Amino acid sequence: MTSPVGNRRGLMLVLSSPSGAGKTTMSKRLLAGDPQISLSVSATTRAPRAGEIDGVDYRFVKDAAFDRLVATGMLLEWAHVFGNRYGTPREPVEAALADGRDILFDIDWQGTQQLRQSQAGGDLVSIFLLPPTLEELHNRLKSRASDSDEVIAGRMARAADEISHWAEYDYVLVNDDPGQCLYEIRSILVTERLRRSRQIGLAGFVRDLLNEGERP
Ligand code: 5GP
Repeated sequence: MTSPVGNRRGLMLVLSSPSGAGKTTMSKRLLAGDPQISLSVSATTRAPRAGEIDGVDYRFVKDAAFDRLVATGMLLEWAHVFGNRYGTPREPVEAALADGRDILFDIDWQGTQQLRQSQAGGDLVSIFLLPPTLEELHNRLKSRASDSDEVIAGRMARAADEISHWAEYDYVLVNDDPGQCLYEIRSILVTERLRRSRQIGLAGFVRDLLNEGERP
């Protein structure tokens, strides 16, 4: 950190949306342009899609390995989504927060609720992305060649359920124009980093500032 105030506490930025509303694209663009934030790589029992890399997009694990992660308390949260399990590994998140780095989560409403209720709930900033129309959402899902018609129908059915949780989020954005949406996400991040509670060096900085005024 180059701030004169010194270190700050990291934050957990959650991006949720129905599948296909552009959240993965937004995440990638945000991460590419900001070295202070990194992605929480979830563990999942889902099979990799074409082009997905183990350890980068997800940690792809078998059911038994996921059971072990749950049983040993290695996950900060986990949930069933589309018949598979997804969860957030605890250790990288705790290390980043303590180190004043931010973490981005591409997780669903169930995971967001669990993070809010966890010990780190005060570090959470949550954003929900809405598609401009359901038709647009359907088109985006169809353009993903890897998913079958059945999977797409399931994702559309689940979209309404996911959207019904919009009011549980701190911020809600309509992803009509990806450039504008990214600008809004970056603006939220910049603003939330400046919260007084996150600037842990502030009290010392102000004390020094006032002392400086008293010097002859
Ligand atoms: P996909 O299979 O399309 O990559 O992801 C399906 C859904 O699972 C998305 O809504 C995504 O946000 C959610 N998801 C991905 N990782 C996690 C996780 O670690 N925890 C939870 N609760 N949801 C996740």
